[in-house]
Amino acid sequence: AKPIVAIVGRPNVGKSTFFNKLAGKRIAIVEDKPGVTRDRIYTDVEWLNHSFTLIDTGGLELESDDVLLSHMRNQAKMAIETAHVIVFMVDGRAGLVSDDEEIANLLRRAGKPVLLVVNKVDTSNLPVSFYDFYQLALGEPVAISSTNALGLGDLLDEIVARF
Ligand code: GDP
Ligand code: MG
Repeated sequence: AKPIVAIVGRPNVGKSTFFNKLAGKRIAIVEDKPGVTRDRIYTDVEWLNHSFTLIDTGGLELESDDVLLSHMRNQAKMAIETAHVIVFMVDGRAGLVSDDEEIANLLRRAGKPVLLVVNKVDTSNLPVSFYDFYQLALGEPVAISSTNALGLGDLLDEIVARF
């Protein structure tokens, strides 16, 4: 079976944009249909001589009682249990927020390799807020821009090195 890589993080950090960027290389024509992209949460990714299954968990909603959101939260927890490598995505524009810390606490207990990925770093200059993410104690953050496709190759190298 292929290794599983799960993308987790609070809503709006860019998980689906990242997912679609990696998925789009192989399924761009199918994914042009509205509604299809949103529902597709699994895709196969090939990088160098590696192949893995990428899961978009849809976001960890830590505070809500809503049934649908708690369902999403359970799905995310299941993805964390199933994953070989976890991509924990945070928002370099918003900076570090308390929900990031709560998710980080969950992930430190997962006992899985976690890659801390700071998305929305759209230029080659790191924002000052980048350095705050070291406080999450999940190692060296990796800066990417999903919309501008910056840093994705380096991130994929880091992912496959953990299989
Ligand atoms: P999700 O809720 O984590 O799946 O986040 P989405 O992928 O839906 O993205 C949320 C918003 O962030 C959208 O408006 C995206 O266009 C935007 N976004 C995603 N990635 C980037 C990025 O690398 N740079 C910038 N500037 N915006 C981004
Ligand atoms: Mg999403």
